[in-house]
Amino acid sequence: MTSTHTDDTPDAYAAFREELRQFAENQCPEALKTVVRSNQKVARAEYSAWQHKLHERGWGAPNWPVEYGGTGWDLQQRYLFEEVMAEADCPPLYHHGLGHIGPVIMHFGTDAQKARFLPRIVNGTEWWCQGYSEPGAGSDLASLRTSAVRDGDHYVINGQKIWTSHAQEADMMYTLVRTSAESRKQAGISLLLVPMNSPGIEVRPIPTIDHWHHVNEVFLRDVRVPVENLLGEEGGGWKCAKFLLDRERLSPATVPRLARLADQVAQLLAERGRASTGASQNVLQEHLYLAQAGVMGAREMLLSAIQEEMHGTLAASKSSALKLYCSELSQQLIGIALDVAGPTYAARLVDTVTNDDTEAEPLRELIHTYLFYRSRSIAGGTSEVQKNVIARDIFGA
Ligand SMILES: Cc1cc2nc3c(=O)[nH]c(=O)nc-3n(C[C@H](O)[C@H](O)[C@H](O)COP(=O)(O)OP(=O)(O)OC[C@H]3O[C@@H](n4cnc5c(N)ncnc54)[C@H](O)[C@@H]3O)c2cc1C
Repeated sequence: MTSTHTDDTPDAYAAFREELRQFAENQCPEALKTVVRSNQKVARAEYSAWQHKLHERGWGAPNWPVEYGGTGWDLQQRYLFEEVMAEADCPPLYHHGLGHIGPVIMHFGTDAQKARFLPRIVNGTEWWCQGYSEPGAGSDLASLRTSAVRDGDHYVINGQKIWTSHAQEADMMYTLVRTSAESRKQAGISLLLVPMNSPGIEVRPIPTIDHWHHVNEVFLRDVRVPVENLLGEEGGGWKCAKFLLDRERLSPATVPRLARLADQVAQLLAERGRASTGASQNVLQEHLYLAQAGVMGAREMLLSAIQEEMHGTLAASKSSALKLYCSELSQQLIGIALDVAGPTYAARLVDTVTNDDTEAEPLRELIHTYLFYRSRSIAGGTSEVQKNVIARDIFGA
């Protein structure tokens, strides 16, 4: 078992796969692929440019209905797109717009909101971030306290969000706010679409262990947002939030990216493994085989989940199980990679995150990725919370 990509593509899809492969090869700049290959953070400008190219080709929103700029692809095509893009080291689709808020706007938005927001997500001109979590309201999201008070034809927002990924580069934030403190706590929540250049918004970076800037605190002080930016009904935000969270956990790109990582680790083992003793190489190889088998299993789960999602029958437990399993797999795989890099480099591990040792570059990327992936079992809902969802769904607990 050397590769986890699909080699069971039916002939009917061979031409399609080739079309995707050629596009990825010719249209994605090499510099961008290098960034993706080494798991570094893709800058907004490059990301937008790539999205723009996909849009021009008609592939800006593979999973959306045609009427909103989607492709109308079937299940196999959707998966092949993700797979070929991952194999070619093209960036994953920017999830906050295409995967998260876009479908919520389609489902709950007014015609004016659909016309205003959806085209700019598909063509890559407008970037979104998610303002859900607050200090004291992460897993227990319904306890959020940021308030929005109606003042004429505006809402006035006051409060604080935390862990807001990409807030420093986003144009818009979809955010949950409390519009009523009187009723059951879920019933007093609304979903507002907030321009990030609104007066009263302050974004402060949160330094993280991996030295990347991706999460922030967002402070909102008397931020005025027009009432037409309310998504769904006032007090109906919890329904929108749950709709979104179920989809957030089902990210079609996750498994192909894991498959690519598994291939990279296999390559690393083949190159570096020679330096280690036969016994430890065998152990690492065995761990890798198990992880590769896990990726194949995850692929089957994902395909059936996408199918169910297309038919509106997807159970929350399935997307939670996938999220849980893929988080664990990504941590396992990058852990194997570090074990392969092993003792030879261990002494450099401590300072390599910040020093300029170019020889240590590949190791630096591994360590960055290792540290970043620690957050996989927290972001988007912790592993414990996923287990709760699964238990509730299956056992009615
Ligand atoms: C890299 C990263 C990016 C993020 N991006 C965003 C973003 O863009 N937007 C956003 O809104 N949020 C974002 N988050 C926040 C993320 O959703 C929360 O961190 C997560 O939901 C956990 O909430 P918390 O940090 O408040 O921890 P807590 O909820 O306080 O949890 C602390 C611990 O208690 C456990 N726990 C809590 N409740 C239960 C329970 N009922 N049963 C069992 N165990 C429980 C948790 O599993 C965890 O181990 C991001 C987080 C990270 C790390």
